Amino acid sequence: LAELKDFDAELAEAIAGEARRQEDHAELIASENYASPLVMAVQDSVFTNKYAEGYPGKRYYSGCAHVDVAERLAVERAKALFGCDYANVQPHAGAQANAAVFLALVNPGDTVMGMNLAQGGHLTHGNPSNFSGRHYRIVPYGLDPATGLIDYDEMERIALKTRPKLLIGGFSAYSRHKDWARMRAIADKAGALFWVDMAHVAGLVAADEYPDPLPHAHVVTSTTHKTLRGPRGGLILSQGQGEEFYKKLDSAVFPGIQGGPLMHVIAAKAVAFKEALAPEFTAYQRQVVTNARAMAAVLQRRGYGIVSGGTDNHLMLIDLSAKPYTGKDADAALSEAWITANKNSVPNDPRSPFVTSGLRIGTPAVTTRGFGVAECEQLAGWLCDVLDALECGTSAQVAPRVREQVVALCRRHPVYR
Ligand code: PLP
Repeated sequence: LAELKDFDAELAEAIAGEARRQEDHAELIASENYASPLVMAVQDSVFTNKYAEGYPGKRYYSGCAHVDVAERLAVERAKALFGCDYANVQPHAGAQANAAVFLALVNPGDTVMGMNLAQGGHLTHGNPSNFSGRHYRIVPYGLDPATGLIDYDEMERIALKTRPKLLIGGFSAYSRHKDWARMRAIADKAGALFWVDMAHVAGLVAADEYPDPLPHAHVVTSTTHKTLRGPRGGLILSQGQGEEFYKKLDSAVFPGIQGGPLMHVIAAKAVAFKEALAPEFTAYQRQVVTNARAMAAVLQRRGYGIVSGGTDNHLMLIDLSAKPYTGKDADAALSEAWITANKNSVPNDPRSPFVTSGLRIGTPAVTTRGFGVAECEQLAGWLCDVLDALECGTSAQVAPRVREQVVALCRRHPVYR
């Protein structure tokens, strides 16, 4: 970076500013984490220069002996970590892994059932603004408005009526366990394949802290950078489906939707999977869930509702629909106090996704930097102070006080020493 400062001062300052922000702000965005220095160093390696279209041993370019070693390590470690017999580590991101599954398993116009974005699903599960919503006939499922829990009976009713070819499990904002066995039974009854996108909970699944979808799903996708704490990227896994099925998935990734794989990122995935196979990773994931529960309890004590009444994983949705301010206002007020969260729709949210009536928070990043229950309770208390002040019109006094405390706590727990 010293060299970059001489060559490109503007960019060097942006990177330095982001490094300071990551150290001094409390990161509660549920999909973010801090990759290890090793993961980052490997992404910075000479593998970035290599073209390697194809798969190990069957490349379209010469000179792939060393990148083949890296990809085979990543594949073998992914299979060991999740206890399955197929892994494709090439998707550039979670959205690409999901696009490959659509391409491999359904045809344009086919009916696909996925969780409504406004109720916790992801864009790539059939939102009209995404390729998935444009090319397939999407039938959404969602939550029971009375409990905030997934309504499996309603899901079954819709599935039997609409007969989807593919049923998608997985979410971006649901704080409870999902019943994968029930979903597989619904898929079987409806004649659908069952796909789980476990992007949010992959790290918890690897550590046995969240129900494992692999025994139930035909295919599982994930990102590698959320709870899994690796480099930004995607992943496809499967168990017991046979070579023909796996060939379809492989050729959907390449040549279906991608060209040359990002070999430096694949090598970093190999490092992250090795880190995740170590016992400390299991302890980390357990702490992520314990910290989330501790934060939810403080919020509830202070009168803030959590959608579904609590959390069993790394995230929760704070319901602000009864408040005189919006999710967007809350997000902005917390930013002033250097607490980073994100506005999020709540079930039956009357406001647009740009405004919303909720806030999503999660504990993967703060747990990585060493926050335990005491620190997370303190942080949840400050978050409530900021929201209380928003309601009382005292933000100008409260935000600077909270910011000072947040920075002091963060500096006691540096991310990169
Ligand atoms: N799937 C789920 C459930 C997600 O939450 C996300 C990202 O937030 C993705 C897929 C997309 O991942 P990416 O941003 O790497 O494309």
